[in-house]
Amino acid sequence: MDTSVNEHYRRLLQLPTPWRVTAVEENLLGQRVTIRLTWPEGAAAVCPVCGQACRVYDRMEERGWRHLSIMQYLLELRCAVPRCECPEHGVKTVAVPWAEPGSRFTTMFEVFAVQVIAACRSLSQAAELLRLHWDAVQRILERAVQRGLARRSPEGLRYVGLDEKSFGRGQDYVSLMTDLVGQRVLEVVPGRDIGSGLALWESLPEPQRQRIEAAAMDMGAAGADRP
Ligand SMILES: [Zn+2]
Repeated sequence: MDTSVNEHYRRLLQLPTPWRVTAVEENLLGQRVTIRLTWPEGAAAVCPVCGQACRVYDRMEERGWRHLSIMQYLLELRCAVPRCECPEHGVKTVAVPWAEPGSRFTTMFEVFAVQVIAACRSLSQAAELLRLHWDAVQRILERAVQRGLARRSPEGLRYVGLDEKSFGRGQDYVSLMTDLVGQRVLEVVPGRDIGSGLALWESLPEPQRQRIEAAAMDMGAAGADRP
């Protein structure tokens, strides 16, 4: 068994072959660990559109993804992602197993961040716990909504939650609708008044609303304004 540090982290990250960990760098003062990943030279890449094996065309500039922390250290994965040349689809950036295209966070980090956001009263509190700027928290929420929309199946939704979150100095609010079973964020709208509650509710297509069995509401202002 290969017990090198690199192989140890490759296993912990559950990286499929032939992805490799080429370095694990620690910056104790900066409270950071960086793991460098690579698609080995000579290995055929996979077209992200059709899945067929094709040659590596070139590599993108190295970039980073924030991952779940390791002990008290922030963990970043870094990689120069290859682009492949598919005879059918041309030059495409290879899909990486740890993140969705375009995200600066790993999928596991995004899922955790959404759970933290859901558990916190305010977005700034979530941002603090996650050690993120609140812009990043907003982006993570937007992406979670996109994922929720992509996976929203008409028969899947039974119980939804409507929640308000403050951000900034507690004067601004967003309202969230979540799928209480699937733990998905379904929609985010500004404000926390009855209009926000309605906007959330109306973001669901009518046939879906018909199937909702219960909605848990935790929106103070909306509750007070209810007729
Ligand atoms: Zn292709």
